[in-house]
This record gives sequence, C-alpha cells and structure tokens, in this order.
Amino acid sequence: MDDEERLLSPKPDGDDQQVEKSLRPKSLAEFIGQERVVEQLRIAITAARGRGEPLDHILFYGPPGLGKTSLSNVLANEMGVKIKITSGPAIERAGDLAAILTNLQKNDILFIDEVHRLNRAVEEVLYPAMEDFALDLIVGKGPSARNLRLKLPRFTVVGATTRLALLTSPLRDRFVAPHRLDFYSDDAMREIVSRSARILAMPITEEGAREIGRRARGTPRIANRLLRRVRDYAQVVADGQIDLAVARAALAQLEIDELGLDENDRRVLRAIIELFNGGPVGLSTLAAALAEEVDAIEDVYEPFLLQLGFLQRTPRGRIATRRAYAHLGVPYIERAVPPDDGGATQGRLF
Ligand code: ADP
Repeated sequence: MDDEERLLSPKPDGDDQQVEKSLRPKSLAEFIGQERVVEQLRIAITAARGRGEPLDHILFYGPPGLGKTSLSNVLANEMGVKIKITSGPAIERAGDLAAILTNLQKNDILFIDEVHRLNRAVEEVLYPAMEDFALDLIVGKGPSARNLRLKLPRFTVVGATTRLALLTSPLRDRFVAPHRLDFYSDDAMREIVSRSARILAMPITEEGAREIGRRARGTPRIANRLLRRVRDYAQVVADGQIDLAVARAALAQLEIDELGLDENDRRVLRAIIELFNGGPVGLSTLAAALAEEVDAIEDVYEPFLLQLGFLQRTPRGRIATRRAYAHLGVPYIERAVPPDDGGATQGRLF
C-alpha cells in the first residue's frame, strides 16, 4: 500500500507540511510532553547562553512524528540563532556539505534529519567540522595538490534519526549523549490535540480531544492529521463541534480502532497469524507477503505494535503475541512445540 496515503503514517504528507508549520511549538514552554528531554535541553540552553557559546552537538532519535524537527526549531528560537534544515539523503556530495558549512554564521544550528543516511564521503567532511570547526579541502590535482584547512565559525549540529543503530560509531561519538523521544502519554496527547484545535480555531471538548489523542499512537503528527479529518466529519455530519460522540463516530468511519490501529496494522498482524502460524517470521519474508518495503514495516508499523506488546522481536523473526490474537478476536492456540525447539525435536524424531 502507498504509505503517503496512509492516515496513520507518522511520516509527513503534503498537507501536513503546510499545517505543521503553524502547529509547531516555538518555545520550550510551548512544547508538550517529553519532560526528561526538555529539562536536559533547558539546562544545556541556559548554560550555553550563559557562556555565550553555541550548544554542543545534539542527537535526537525515535520514531517519526514525535517532534525531532520541532525541538530543533525550538532550540534555535531559544538560543536566538538561525537554523539551516537539511537531511542525510539531500547532501549528496562532500561539496554540498562544504557549501552549507561555509554559509553558516557563528552559533547557528545545522539540522540534519535522517542523519544515518549521510554517505561516507560527506561524513568524512563532517567529522573535522564538528570536532575542530574546520573544513579540510584539497586544492589542485596530482603532485601539486595540497591540503588547505579553512576555519569555520563555531556552530551546532542537531542530528535526527529514526534508527540509532544505523549511525556509524565515529559520527555517533561526535554527539553528546543522544536524546531518545518516546511515544507520548494519553494526557500529553490530549493537550497536544487541544492546543492544535485552538490554533486552528476548531471547537472541541476535552473528551473529544482525549479520544483523538488516545487513538493517535502516541504520535503528535498523527493526532494533528486525525484532528483535521474529524473536523471535516464534525462540519458535515454534526454541528461543527468535536465532542466525544463525534470523535468516536468519525474515527470509526476512518476504521481506526480503540487502540489506534488501522486496517494496515491489522493486516500485518493477520499475516503473521494466518500465513505464518503466529511466527516467527523473518522481516523480509513478512514484507514480501504484504508487498511492503522492509523499511516501512520497521519504521512505521513495528514500533507501535511492539509498544502495545502485540509483536515480539526474536532472533528468528517476528512473533504475534497472545494479546494480538485477542485484539483480532482470533483464538490463540498454545504451541505444542515451542518455536525455538522446532529443529531439535525433528532431529530426535528422525
Ligand atoms: P519528527 O521530526 O520527529 O518527524 P516533527 O517535529 O516534524 O516530528 O513533529 C510533527 C508535528 O507534530 C509538528 O508539526 C508539530 O505540530 C507536532 N508536534 C510534535 N511534537 C509536539 C509537541 N511536543 N507539542 C505539540 N506539537 C507537537
């Protein structure tokens, strides 16, 4: 299925990008949830400002849609500096990065989304830039070539990644401890929905906001998208106000269930249960059976299914848990032979 069309995709679509701008929190005080990270950043900002220095390089990691880009913008606002936004795949050649770096001003923030997707040659340029604020250039060709070291202004790299494990270790070492963003609590999600509704001038009750927040998989980007869809429903079917009943009816019509799963999530679980006997099934086999990209399963579906305890990751593949069976209303059959014992038992029998 096309990820772009998926209502519950945590990745931005065209519509999101426009609305997201207006909904992005501008200051730490406006940023809801992630208290641990926010507190650490508050201290880092106060200390750096006190010294009149740029922030240390910062790394955010966690599933898409949880606020990594928003937090980076907040950092720039709080520090009173400019932010240049780019991403790993967008910087194709070392020269592209050199051009970006030479345009930075003192204390600026360079935000690199999907920083795990930087290529080797680009990373090599980034290392001395992060460590010594220097750009190493080779001037000329052949025997007359020589190294030239250009001094850069002191600046801050803010990296964001959905996959910490894919970061090369030299790059990872150049950031201070990474900040992990978690799925938001139901309370934080309610607040985020209420805030977005206020900004977009939508009348909503507290129960309505809670219901939308609760079914948005702990992800603000999804909550904002659901809110817009529920508003359409409220306008056409109800009197424009989003209350609990309207939120429930609209979400049911969008086929988003009590836990925030949509038809695609259920399809993943059903495939494991029905096609692979509950698992274990390897990620690439599962992806092939669903006609999905391996990346989509790992980035989009899995994190939330794991969080719900519906899926287990084992060295031999993914397993659907008893809870997943219960949620889908499929009877759970206790396995006579534990999955990890399959080969051994066969060996004994024959
Ligand atoms: P990421 O970079 O992790 O994919 P973003 O920073 O782009 O996520 O966040 C997606 C959207 O979710 C933002 O436009 C913003 O409106 C909303 N959002 C994220 N975090 C928060 C938060 N803590 N409070 C309010 N809104 C948030």
